[in-house]
Amino acid sequence: MRRKFVAGNWKMHGLKAQLKEIESIAATATAKPGVDVAICVPFTLIAPAVAAVPGFAIGAQDVHESGSGAHTGCISAEMLKEAGATLVIVGHSERRADQHETSHDAWAKAAAARAAGLHVILCCGETEEERDAGETDRVVAAQIAEIPSDARGDWLTIAYEPRWAIGTGKTPTEAEIAATHGAIRAKVQELAGADAADTIRILYGGSMNPANAAAILALSDVDGGLVGGASLTAEKFVPIIEAAAG
Ligand code: PEP
Repeated sequence: MRRKFVAGNWKMHGLKAQLKEIESIAATATAKPGVDVAICVPFTLIAPAVAAVPGFAIGAQDVHESGSGAHTGCISAEMLKEAGATLVIVGHSERRADQHETSHDAWAKAAAARAAGLHVILCCGETEEERDAGETDRVVAAQIAEIPSDARGDWLTIAYEPRWAIGTGKTPTEAEIAATHGAIRAKVQELAGADAADTIRILYGGSMNPANAAAILALSDVDGGLVGGASLTAEKFVPIIEAAAG
């Protein structure tokens, strides 16, 4: 039985003034022990957030695949860990679009994060053109093709995030979400075996909000959500956590 997991992605939002939102969100999470909750903040907010809510899972939104070196502006997994992060998002579609990251890059980052003991949320998802062409399953299968054969849910989570649904208010139909999550789980089983398929959580991401969360989170093979805009305030994120807690 996979526990539900709801993670917030604050993207390039958040100064210390917003820590009070994380404090409220963490208070709800503590009162709902049946669901795992995390917030992935900008690098500068990791240590202050960890200090504000000790024991609550604070993550990052990117990591470099190397341990150290001449990589101006980048950050290593050990640095994130030292700051207090316990998880990191890799392969988000905004990094694929803005920084031209590939799926190979995402899996290299995942390996570096895993080696440092960080939990990884690896994102996949198709563009609107790929969806319209009926290519969703092929695209996400290619994006997760480098999953290690020993992958397990204790260090890896996959987030299915249709690129056209992120920040747009649009979502796939419930049937489409369930079908794609089922296809991802089948691919995980093919590549990494039954233990991986049983333990790796597959989150839905893309315009999840308090109004649609309960229905999406109830779908088969949906183990939680990766939430952008609606994770920025306790007012919007808490109802999503409550929906996940059931
Ligand atoms: C995201 O950035 O991962 C995301 C799902 O964003 P939003 O919820 O705002 O669509």
